Amino acid sequence: MNQGTLAYEEALRMVLDASARLPAEDCAVAACLGRILARDIVSAAALPPFDNSAMDGFALRGDTDVVPTNTELDIEGEQAAGDGISRSRGGAWEIMTGARMPDGLDRVIPVEQTERVASAARIRLLADVERGQNVRTAGSDLQRGETVLAAGSVFGPNHLMLLAALGVATVSVTARPRVAVLCTGRELVDDPAQALAPGQIRNSNGPFLAARVPLAGADVVHIETVGDDAPAFELALQRALDAGAQVIVSSGAVSMGRYDFVPQALERIGAETLFHKVAIRPGKPLLFARLPGGALLFGLPGNPIAVAVGLRFFIEPALRVMLGLPDETPRRVPLAVAYNKKPRLRFHLKTRLLIDAQGCLAAEVLGGQESYRIRPLAEANAWAVVPADVDALPAGAMIDVYGPGHLEFPLPYENVA
Ligand code: AMP
Ligand code: MG
Repeated sequence: MNQGTLAYEEALRMVLDASARLPAEDCAVAACLGRILARDIVSAAALPPFDNSAMDGFALRGDTDVVPTNTELDIEGEQAAGDGISRSRGGAWEIMTGARMPDGLDRVIPVEQTERVASAARIRLLADVERGQNVRTAGSDLQRGETVLAAGSVFGPNHLMLLAALGVATVSVTARPRVAVLCTGRELVDDPAQALAPGQIRNSNGPFLAARVPLAGADVVHIETVGDDAPAFELALQRALDAGAQVIVSSGAVSMGRYDFVPQALERIGAETLFHKVAIRPGKPLLFARLPGGALLFGLPGNPIAVAVGLRFFIEPALRVMLGLPDETPRRVPLAVAYNKKPRLRFHLKTRLLIDAQGCLAAEVLGGQESYRIRPLAEANAWAVVPADVDALPAGAMIDVYGPGHLEFPLPYENVA
């Protein structure tokens, strides 16, 4: 194991190196919102699939670029959306939006730019009509054989519209990582209906992790709370592995206290501890280990904000590797108010992105950054990060900002100062 306190960047490198991309699986298009595409999707069809009318009007053709105003044409037929192949003999066809262009016709005049000639089945044009006007040509949106979505895309409703139009029924997505959550602490109470005895607190890390992990693209396969008891922890670990966990997140019992038993428990079961302690705040005692069967264990300190930071800045990057996503890049946002900190540690700050009075995006580092203070997290919609070697940032300085989850970034229309 790496002795001493590691820089965040070194620790992250070890986490990324220990993480491996998961295999692909097929998923029905309607069920794969939020999943990560494992392969490029190439269109097997053109869009639109045939030339069709953009207007309700009359389809016609001309031997010249422009069919001039006042031209009169016989009406040969009617073509509505859903009608099949029709063939023109040189006259005009009444046509509806989306209807297939009759063969031989190459332009459409809107109905309001025509008038009926009194004798009936004949129209007069009230405007010039150019070749191609109001025709949506086959393949003008998308050609057959084009790459429409790249591997690594997070599949969303806009993509679904496109694939539905193409008739794609299933796509290949990366398997969702399987995660277990183990909370430690004899002070913890899981049941909200249970009254607290003196010295007890409610378990807030467990519900937080159970809610956030799925948003990060993974499945929670096991969740359990144990007391400060190494044998109970080892049994819980075994149940997590039996449930198929590839990643185990524990909270608590990794610091220097008498009951901080996780490091020893891991040693006893033959886990390889890759590091313990990182130069970050909050969450410095964070531990990272590989269990004998290959599962990764993130031992997060129990303070709730240390758990949130451990998830956001260690576990989510590992999940990204497993999901086949590239490294995340922060957004650079100006600080609303000057911020000072001690050097040596990298700080992860509960932050609110807002739109200032001039309409500009700004990052407000919230008060109450201590790792036990969870109320400011409820007001935060982002994380700001100050590197270890930086100690003072004036108002207006650019700061690295991350969304609340690696697949989320707030567009804070609602956060006007
Ligand atoms: P530990 O890392 O076990 O020393 O815990 C650090 C602090 O976090 C203590 O104040 C614990 O009571 C608190 N804590 C530990 N686990 C949880 C949890 N699941 N939910 C809320 N607070 C916790
Ligand atoms: Mg504890």
